[in-house]
Amino acid sequence: MTIIEKAPAKINLSLDVLRKRKNDEYHDVEMIMTTIDLADRLEFISLEEDKIEISLESRYVPNDERNLAYKAAKVFKNRFNIKKGVHIKIDKNIPVSAGLGGGSTDAAAVIRGLNRLWELDMQLQELGNVAAQCGSDTSFSLYGNTAMAKGYGEIIERLPPPPPCWVVLAKPDIGVSTRTIFERVNVEELSHPNNKALIEALNNQDFQGICHYIGNSLEPITCKLHPEVIQIKETMKQLGSPGVLMSGTGPTVYSLVQQHQKAKQIYNGMRGFCNEVYLVRLLG
Ligand code: ATP
Repeated sequence: MTIIEKAPAKINLSLDVLRKRKNDEYHDVEMIMTTIDLADRLEFISLEEDKIEISLESRYVPNDERNLAYKAAKVFKNRFNIKKGVHIKIDKNIPVSAGLGGGSTDAAAVIRGLNRLWELDMQLQELGNVAAQCGSDTSFSLYGNTAMAKGYGEIIERLPPPPPCWVVLAKPDIGVSTRTIFERVNVEELSHPNNKALIEALNNQDFQGICHYIGNSLEPITCKLHPEVIQIKETMKQLGSPGVLMSGTGPTVYSLVQQHQKAKQIYNGMRGFCNEVYLVRLLG
C-alpha cells in the first residue's frame, strides 16, 4: 500500500521571542504562521520488517536517522507501539535552512501519513502530542492553515487566514541555522511585533493592516550576520511590495501582494537580483 502526503512550507507573519525557558534549551515564542503553496511531497510504503528507510535526493539533507522525517516516524512508532516498518520517499522542493519550516513540515507529513498508512484513525489532538515531541514548528505544520503558535511552538490557536493573495519569496544563496540565530538572542534587546494588532487585522480581513503589522523579532540578528537579507528587503520594497518580512530565522524574505500583475512584476524584478525566487499562493 502507498500513501502520498503534501507537506507545505510556512511563512511567519510574525515571530516574537518572549523569554528564555528555564528547563530546556528553547525560548517561549508567539508566532503567527500561515502555509503557502510551495511543498515537499512524501510517499509512504509499508514494510513487513520493523525498520524506517528514507530516500531523497538532496545535497543538504541527510537520509538517515538525522532526517526529521525519520525522527518523526520513530516517535510515532514508539508512541503507538507499531512493529511494522516504512519506506519514506521525500521529494524536496522547499529550500533547506531557509526559514520556511521545510524539516518540520516533512515531520508533520510523516505523522499524518503514518496515521493513514497503518489505519490508526487517531484524532488530530492525539497526533499533536506526537508532533510536540518532534521540534518546535512541527505542531503548527500538523494543523496547517493560519495559526498562532505559543510555548516553544507546541500550543496552537487557530486564526482566520489572510485575504487571498500572492506571496513572492526570495532567498539569498546562504543557509541560516536556527540554532545560530537563537544563540545570539538577548531578549532585553529585541523589539516585539504587535501580535494583537495583527490578529485584529486578520479578523477584519484588513490586508493593509496585515502588511503593516507583520513583524519578526529575529530579523535584526540575521541581518547583522547576513547583510544580503537587508538588500533583498530593500529591493522588494523599491519594487513596490506592500508588506515585506523575513520568515523564521531567515534568510528567505517574502512579500504579500494582492494583484497578480503586481506580484509578477516583483517576482521578475527579484529574479534579476537573486537565484531562488518563487511566486506562490497562500494556502492558509
Ligand atoms: P525553521 O523555519 O523551522 O527554522 P528552516 O526552514 O530554517 O526551519 P529546515 O529546512 O527545516 O530549516 O532545515 C534545518 C536543518 O534540518 C538542516 O540542517 C537540514 O539538513 C536538517 N533536516 C533534517 N531533516 C530535514 C528534512 N526532512 N527537510 C529539511 N531539512 C532537514
